[in-house]
Amino acid sequence: MTTPILELRGVSAAYGQIEVLHGIDLTLQAGHVLAVLGPNGAGKTSTVKVIAGLLRPTNGRVELCGRDVTNASADQLSRAGVCVVPEGRGVFPRLSVEEHLKLSAWGTGGREARARVYDAFPRLYERRKQLAGTMSGGEQQMLALSRAIARQPALLIVDELSMGLAPMVVEQLYEHVRAVAAQGVSIVLVEQFVHDVLGLADAAIVMQHGTVVRSGHPRDLAEDLAGLYLAASR
Ligand code: ATP
Repeated sequence: MTTPILELRGVSAAYGQIEVLHGIDLTLQAGHVLAVLGPNGAGKTSTVKVIAGLLRPTNGRVELCGRDVTNASADQLSRAGVCVVPEGRGVFPRLSVEEHLKLSAWGTGGREARARVYDAFPRLYERRKQLAGTMSGGEQQMLALSRAIARQPALLIVDELSMGLAPMVVEQLYEHVRAVAAQGVSIVLVEQFVHDVLGLADAAIVMQHGTVVRSGHPRDLAEDLAGLYLAASR
């Protein structure tokens, strides 16, 4: 078995005195897509923050390619190739597509990075002069994704890509995620609702109340999910 790109072992984390993650275990193999699923408040974003170095664990261990990064800063992790597309897109409405890409492709040879992105997202090439604020939600999310890709991450974490988007648009975005994964980028895909994420993922975990309640192959989890979500919403 090769060394996983990411491993969390017994990770707990808190905001002040209040513990919100209680011993999280997860493993992401290099080049795989891991789906992190769970209802509102389950602790998904807090887990993302731990992986990105924005929330320091109170317990447990985080490893990146077998290296202990439990206490690494967001800065160090970013330089090690960890890249987050946060919930809510985070594009600048008054900047064009091209300007976004110029801002995010530092250190990666701007022109080549843009060419790579336009190759992967022809729609963004067509819209390169357009202000992000005038684009559709799906296109904005595509832009958020492309900015991360411009940086050639080793590990890409995407928090709620599907938020507020029509299922058909989400499907198209997942196709892009699939293409990014095919280039060898390891991906953590966080989603509240399942959509087709299970068809895309190589592995999945389900979180609830700050713990992992299921983990395994997406195919084996599909049946459990409806019941779990129902229980969580009671
Ligand atoms: P969502 O889908 O709503 O983003 P989530 O699964 O990502 O939910 P988290 O955002 O990680 O869940 O929240 C887990 C718990 O931590 C919740 O009880 C939430 O209220 C709490 N929490 C999140 N952020 C903070 C914060 N900055 N300060 C205090 N508590 C927080």
